[in-house]
Amino acid sequence: MNMTDFAQYKDVWVFAEQRAGKLMNVSLELLGEGCRLSREISEETRVCAVLIGDRAGHLADELYAYGADVIYQIDHALLKEYTTDAYAKVMTNAINTYKPEIVLFGATFIGRDLAPRIAARLDTGLTADCTRLDIRTANYIDYLKRDTTASTDGLDPKGDDKGLKQTRPAFGGNLMATIVTPNTRPQMATVRLGVMDRKEKNEGAGGQLIKVPVNLSADDIHVEVVETVKAAKAFVSLTDAEIICSGGRGLGGPEGFELIEKLADKVGGVVGASRAAVDSGWIDQSHQVGQTGTTVKPKIYFACGISGAIQHQAGMKDSDIIIAINKDPGAPMMELADYALCGDLKKVIPELIAQWDTE
Ligand code: FAD
Repeated sequence: MNMTDFAQYKDVWVFAEQRAGKLMNVSLELLGEGCRLSREISEETRVCAVLIGDRAGHLADELYAYGADVIYQIDHALLKEYTTDAYAKVMTNAINTYKPEIVLFGATFIGRDLAPRIAARLDTGLTADCTRLDIRTANYIDYLKRDTTASTDGLDPKGDDKGLKQTRPAFGGNLMATIVTPNTRPQMATVRLGVMDRKEKNEGAGGQLIKVPVNLSADDIHVEVVETVKAAKAFVSLTDAEIICSGGRGLGGPEGFELIEKLADKVGGVVGASRAAVDSGWIDQSHQVGQTGTTVKPKIYFACGISGAIQHQAGMKDSDIIIAINKDPGAPMMELADYALCGDLKKVIPELIAQWDTE
């Protein structure tokens, strides 16, 4: 790819993931991040939402309200349910036709399935599970020249190639890796849920709607969705919760979560968990907070019987107020907490609940 090819690639695209006609929060967060990145690239750079589905046009107003300048609508009866084949085909075609500079996906089950297949078809780079994105302005040419295997073809020799700098946890969360894909376009990333800020909603905002021609037949799809089965328990929306009460190995067993549920009921929160509690089979994985679970930013985060391993902190350290309950005053979570309650949680939590009643 040479400089001329690079110049054809414009705009920041966000895959507007929807399920049963409802947009995923992460897509709105990515629109907010897209607005920030587009301003850093140039005034002309637009933020575009790619809306795939069957008669999903009713979601356009919400996408404009959260920052989309343009919506590429890809509508077809065969796109009603998500299938890897169909979504990868139509999205790849759209990217080849309109040539976005950056394409962002939420790191959801669908985003994690779809993005790598599109990247492979386009023969471009993809960074998975990002927690931060920036536009680089530093001169990467000299840096790349130190690596004799790296190509600097197509990069601006003056070094003002404004590419995407992607940051993600590596080596079990002990390091943050910065990744660039300077020689290919588009630059693609999946982004963790809850790590980017959505814009304030601007009701009534409008934009451009582009209806993308769809060339799709049943032969393109090699799987058939026979039935959609809802999880027995309602999916817990940790990313939306303002208060989260999480329990860890210190609960001592699955019955410990009854105490956490009581606390959550009392304070109007939802139940979270450490991986140790999930791996022990005490609670479903959808409750897990942390590097390999959900990243959360609630107003209040209760960490009960959780030591505060770096992988757990990676998912909750940006909470507004952290309240730790632990019998070990030296536990890392007690250091991180705004309020550290030292003691046996089986005593401290009932006292907290009783105190709440008298407030
Ligand atoms: P422990 O570390 O065993 O801590 C239990 C705490 O409870 C202790 O501090 C103890 O003092 C306290 N306690 C015990 N009894 C009581 C009591 N009666 N009253 C009060 N306090 C008590 N972990 C995550 O949570 N989320 C992740 O997403 C995640 N991803 C990971 C990814 C990788 C690649 C790796 C290697 C690890 C990951 N982990 C993750 C695991 C992580 O390293 C820790 O093992 C885990 O977070 C520990 O969980 P815990 O704090 O519940 O248990």
